[in-house]
Amino acid sequence: MNIGAHVRGGGTLIPSLDAGVAIGATSIQVFVQSPRMWKPSQYAPAVLEAYREAQRDHPTITDTFCHATYLINLATSDPELYEKSVAALSHNLAVGRAMGASGVILHVGSHKGVGFEEVVDQVVRAFTRALDDAGADTECPILIENAAGAGGTVGRSLEEIEALLEASGRDERLGVCLDTQHLFASGVDYATPSAARRLLKDVDRRIGIERLRCLHLNDSKTAFGSNRDRHANIGEGEIGEAGLAALVGHPAVRELPLLLEVPGDGGGPRAEDVVAARSVVERGVALYRRGGAKTTETK
Ligand SMILES: [Zn+2]
Ligand SMILES: [Zn+2]
Repeated sequence: MNIGAHVRGGGTLIPSLDAGVAIGATSIQVFVQSPRMWKPSQYAPAVLEAYREAQRDHPTITDTFCHATYLINLATSDPELYEKSVAALSHNLAVGRAMGASGVILHVGSHKGVGFEEVVDQVVRAFTRALDDAGADTECPILIENAAGAGGTVGRSLEEIEALLEASGRDERLGVCLDTQHLFASGVDYATPSAARRLLKDVDRRIGIERLRCLHLNDSKTAFGSNRDRHANIGEGEIGEAGLAALVGHPAVRELPLLLEVPGDGGGPRAEDVVAARSVVERGVALYRRGGAKTTETK
């Protein structure tokens, strides 16, 4: 089991490792620049090298993931925004790579009604340019995050993510991060072992299970199929512990980094949120040990 959490990076990024350890997380996710500003971070190479060393000194933290800035929109029809987005993604990848991160998690953006088919090529060209410019390799891939599905967001279904991968020629520098709240909000059922198995079979068929590098583990403030991105603490939302257990307990998922992006009491994931996440995974693992589907339908 590997429960991670989004934590604050700070000027040298290194405090984020201690912040992770302090709440009992075994992976962390950080922003490497302000998530709502274009201004790129200016980390000296020595700072990023120091982060790598610090990660070695924190052996209980297995992986660091970077979350790309929210302003990026690779599906935009505005050429200036597109260029800024490619540059920001490339910068995030270069920083992630230099600090030894396991991937840069990305919201692809929104086509604002133009239509998914219309933007596939430009999105994939942006991936390739950013990856090439950053000298990225398979160690620090772009991890496409599934969207909750609001307003023309790209990556709202496994089909869309599959289409992006196909158009890239299945570039090995592309992987996927599935967010449990976004899946739920986009109307994907995984509440029972049989539903979770179906979903993961679909992930394997369309994406390839080896490309699934981590999950975002969040409960939901909004209803199933609401297409709204609103995270709740584990067990306090519309999905609930029982609704999350089957997915995170599945053998293909239970050892992946499961990264909390929950509000806590306003300051982000706390130790008690990590404890709650662990208990959900244990509950899920037990479902499969007992032989699954039948025991859960009576929840
Ligand atoms: Zn995200
Ligand atoms: Zn997320």
